[in-house]
Amino acid sequence: MKVLIADDDPLSLLYLQDTLQDWGYEVVTATDGIRACEILQQPDAPMLAVIDWMMPGMDGIDVCRQVRDTIKDRYVYLIMLTTRSETEFVVEAMNAGADDFVGKPFNAEELQVRIRAGRRISELEQQLRLKATHDALTGIYNRGALLEILEKELIRHGRDTRPVSIIFADLDHFKRVNDEHGHLAGDAVLREVSRRLAAVLRPYDSLGRYGGEELLIVLPACTRDGALEVAERVRAAVAATPVDTDFGAIACSLSIGIAVADEGVPIPSQKLIHLADDALYRAKRGGRNRVEMASDQQGQPDGDQDEQE
Ligand code: GH3
Ligand code: MG
Ligand code: MG
Repeated sequence: MKVLIADDDPLSLLYLQDTLQDWGYEVVTATDGIRACEILQQPDAPMLAVIDWMMPGMDGIDVCRQVRDTIKDRYVYLIMLTTRSETEFVVEAMNAGADDFVGKPFNAEELQVRIRAGRRISELEQQLRLKATHDALTGIYNRGALLEILEKELIRHGRDTRPVSIIFADLDHFKRVNDEHGHLAGDAVLREVSRRLAAVLRPYDSLGRYGGEELLIVLPACTRDGALEVAERVRAAVAATPVDTDFGAIACSLSIGIAVADEGVPIPSQKLIHLADDALYRAKRGGRNRVEMASDQQGQPDGDQDEQE
């Protein structure tokens, strides 16, 4: 587990670093509060930090406040390290957002058990967060988490010059799979289809379960042509080989609708989903196991433009 330690005193920092490394922690260091905050805001940041109170510029109290004000998508467990151990200081630190408090110079045994307690809470919080944002059957994002990701991408899209695409996919005749092979077989198909989709996506694309057998993919910075290419890859990944289950091999396919938020054209998420859903419906009517692109936001169906010329 990664732990951040922040202390402006180099000797104290070195001693803390050695001690924590001996206990098996991966240690990241900062010598001031500003750097500590920067580190905690990075993507793969430590979930636990030991912060010295007295630091020049931004002190430990400021770090606690800033972390609580700005980091909302995960919990960082903060242990304050200080020579000020009177109750009023404990109260001040905890009011600022610290979770725990260790006197300086620290007693190694005490620091070790306090870090261990913080680690337990951190790990529990991560498990809860994973459960709250992921679908229990397939392990991919659930509807709520994916819609949040889409909202964020569309906000970023408003400031950006790149398009955002979404892919809406629905398993074809999935009711038949359940009827002919049973619900457990249907579940196995859903799991394998999700796995195949995740395998053909780019690392920054997000895949989620929108509803029963409907999957939604958010593709940031992805043009129409890019989205068509990904959708075709997704379609082929499912249709190419039947899914092996305990109940036999089950052939299946996806119908897919794509919608694109073009650069410079703001669009609400619900409208974008509606456009993709319309395209998906056309894919179903067109014979299933196929990809359709939504009309652009001006209402001009892409496929019809050629015919009009
Ligand atoms: P279409 O090609 O038109 O989409 O036909 P379909 O049969 O896939 O569509 P329909 O909406 O009639 O049926 C969807 C089925 O998906 C019915 C439902 O029981 C099944 N389903 C939804 N969620 C799950 C799940 O978690 N596990 C299983 N086994 N089946 C599910
Ligand atoms: Mg279906
Ligand atoms: Mg459906």
